[in-house]
Amino acid sequence: MECLFCKIINKEVPSEIIYENGKFIVFRDINPKAPIHYLICPKKHIISVNHVGEEDRELIGELFLVAKKIARDFGISEKGYKLVFNVGKGGGQLIPHLHLHLLGGWRSKKERDLPHMP
Ligand SMILES: [Zn+2]
Repeated sequence: MECLFCKIINKEVPSEIIYENGKFIVFRDINPKAPIHYLICPKKHIISVNHVGEEDRELIGELFLVAKKIARDFGISEKGYKLVFNVGKGGGQLIPHLHLHLLGGWRSKKERDLPHMP
């Protein structure tokens, strides 16, 4: 499998993993656009939101529960954060393996509004 994220999931490529369970892995974006910028990635190889199937309903629901947990664990739940899916090359998706960007930790609105989107 020539997928970078599958290699990260299989520990063939190192990454800064901050959380992992049976179905998901969460690691730091190598090119962070915010003080906290993590990628929440299902271990199942789904290319993009366009490729999510009916059979993935439960998995995608769990993806948001993982996002919520990570935000809470890193203390940004109350302050607020962004969750972003880029879809396809035109949408800015660099790696064709579904992942949810979690961004937060800004110290001010001004810092948040700097050009930063992944
Ligand atoms: Zn993959």
